Amino acid sequence: MKTILDRISKHADAQTERGAVASYIPELASVDPKQFGMSVVMADGQSFSVGDAATRFSIQSVSKVFTLALALGRLGDQLWSRVGREPSGLPFNSILQLEHERGIPRNPFINAGALVVTDAILAGHQPREVLGELLRFVRAAAGDDDIHINKAVAKSETEHGARNLSLAHFMQAQGNFQNPPEMTCGTYFHQCAIEMTCEQLARAGRFLIGATGPSLISQSNVRRINALMLTCGHYDGSGEFAYRVGLPGKSGVGGGILMIVPNKASVAIWSPGLNAQGNSQLGTEAAEKFAEMTGWSVFG
Ligand code: GLU
Repeated sequence: MKTILDRISKHADAQTERGAVASYIPELASVDPKQFGMSVVMADGQSFSVGDAATRFSIQSVSKVFTLALALGRLGDQLWSRVGREPSGLPFNSILQLEHERGIPRNPFINAGALVVTDAILAGHQPREVLGELLRFVRAAAGDDDIHINKAVAKSETEHGARNLSLAHFMQAQGNFQNPPEMTCGTYFHQCAIEMTCEQLARAGRFLIGATGPSLISQSNVRRINALMLTCGHYDGSGEFAYRVGLPGKSGVGGGILMIVPNKASVAIWSPGLNAQGNSQLGTEAAEKFAEMTGWSVFG
């Protein structure tokens, strides 16, 4: 595994086309695009890392995996009356489909869907309580208490959050929002601003490995979340990722990818430059190389 990671890292270092760092959240625009890190944690706990795997980055939409786990645990199938389970085929922050589909977002991993999930777990709770519960969950999953929210990133996104607020207001108008849009969006911006290293994220992903990983949620929810990661985890690049990599993954605009090899391993990859779909350019290439070199795929 170490040899595989070294080769992937060498390949990443040699690339000149690294994509563009997300700039619509100004605090993320100053991240150095030359970074690349990757960690693999096996089902038995052995771990392997390469490159900038110990550098903290903004997990952004990777947080949607953790909030979905909390929401499914709390609400079960009730959640699906408010959000669908189909790939959207549209950009992560698109508002187009939402009007056609009467305020019910396609899936929990596009922004509108993730806002509904956060809105659902807020019911009857204060943002501080929900964020506390989320951090407890992520820290327990990673076995590491040194995981925090970067307040400057949350503030930066709040100040430039018009687009997410508009999604929330539209869903409120359609009767699919329970809390004030500012409150749910504020909570969502803070969840996205959680920072982790590849080492921490790969460890935190172990609860999704399956029977052999730590059991923080039910096995049926492990399978469901993995299915959604495979079909919807990379926005309008989800089909491409499934085709090229063949493993469930969730990306974020901070350049992180959490990828699960069912029954075998949890993998975190980070490189801040993004491709046209807002997924890590080098991260996606590394995921593809990793699947090729290990021969691991959910398709046998
Ligand atoms: N906080 C980001 C947003 O809502 C998350 C998007 C992402 O990581 O894809 O725009």
